Amino acid sequence: MLSPLILVINCGSSSLKFALFPLEGRTPVLVGLAECLGQAEASIRIDHAGTRDKRAIANAGHQQALDCLLGRLGEMGLLEPISAVGHRVVHGGERFTGSAPITPEVLADIEACAQLAPLHNRANLIGIFAAMKALPDTPQVAVFDTAFHQTMPPEAYLYALPRLYHSRLGVRRYGFHGTSHRFVAAEAVKLLGLDPDHHGLIIAHLGNGASATAVLNGRSVDTTMGMTPLEGLVMGTRSGDVDFGVLAHIARHEGLDIDGLEALLNKTSGLLGLSGLSGDCRALQEAASQGHAGATEALGVFVHRLVRHIGALAMSLPRLDALIFTGGIGENSALIRGRTLDHLGLLGFELDSAANDTMPRGESGVISRGAGPKAAVLPTNEEWMIAHDTAAIAGLLSNSAQNERLAS
Ligand code: ADP
Repeated sequence: MLSPLILVINCGSSSLKFALFPLEGRTPVLVGLAECLGQAEASIRIDHAGTRDKRAIANAGHQQALDCLLGRLGEMGLLEPISAVGHRVVHGGERFTGSAPITPEVLADIEACAQLAPLHNRANLIGIFAAMKALPDTPQVAVFDTAFHQTMPPEAYLYALPRLYHSRLGVRRYGFHGTSHRFVAAEAVKLLGLDPDHHGLIIAHLGNGASATAVLNGRSVDTTMGMTPLEGLVMGTRSGDVDFGVLAHIARHEGLDIDGLEALLNKTSGLLGLSGLSGDCRALQEAASQGHAGATEALGVFVHRLVRHIGALAMSLPRLDALIFTGGIGENSALIRGRTLDHLGLLGFELDSAANDTMPRGESGVISRGAGPKAAVLPTNEEWMIAHDTAAIAGLLSNSAQNERLAS
């Protein structure tokens, strides 16, 4: 009999990311991406056993992309072993405090949460329906970006707005990147030898989207993103925190409506808007090294905002054992990590420049020295975390195997 595999699906508005994981180990046997869905240039690429297979699937939507994927998996003999499908779902509102098996009730609740994240959840639902149609007898599981943060206390999640908006419209802070923060928090305890019941961490997930979270004894107690993934840190194209008065001023003077403001804050702000060049950190580092003033200033604002939020998150914790960097920028940019730690001396951090500058790509390790809290780099693995939850909820892991896998 073939060993069971877990299919992980992350469905965006015009893309479908996927991976196949075995029950043992954390290395996917296959990964891939279908992109530009709904357009003439739609394509799907599959990386498996050291080879890349890329094909045009002109005008394919999510259903056709998934059918194409499953057809290819069938040809490779990898379809039959799929024992469960895990889906990334962005917004779980207050309804979901953990991952959930997909039932008609859960689908209705994900639909209801789509009011809070229309673009994201609707895309996630398309992926779920396509997978249910293609694999009708296979258990499906939803894993929510917001679930990990449901342990935040009211003082951290309430906005200082009239209460009725919370009860009537679900207006509160939810936080995102929860699957990544949860994975990294558990890994940090192992890497640093912390007591699972007595520790305080700040995790900085810095990618195109960026958020930082305060974790006390494995539970999120505060985070920088809010009701939507727009609040908090400076991101690739998102502004992070902005005074609402600024938005009213811009709207009045430029004649922007709500949709125009939303597009401005999500798509043309952040590193891109500040630099006038790019939302990509690596490109900005290169430009800054050649004297580009906009790139230099953009990176400066990015670090300043990050440091300010780390300082604020530290005050949500009774103790601070470590700051962990993850995500594309956190894992790869020694410059951003070094400049961030240089500003955090007040919290007792001391940068180990040699360790920071030589941290190999994809590796975990400590980049601080001295008696203060530690700073470390830890690659995130959201896809594996989704596969793990999916296997556990689908009953594919015994209790002891679940514990062993998490401890591995
Ligand atoms: P997403 O949020 O889309 O998953 P990633 O976690 O892949 O994004 O992070 C993408 C970001 O990581 C980009 O800003 C990219 O420039 C940055 N990045 C990747 N490698 C490096 C590097 N070597 N140095 C600096 N930044 C990097």
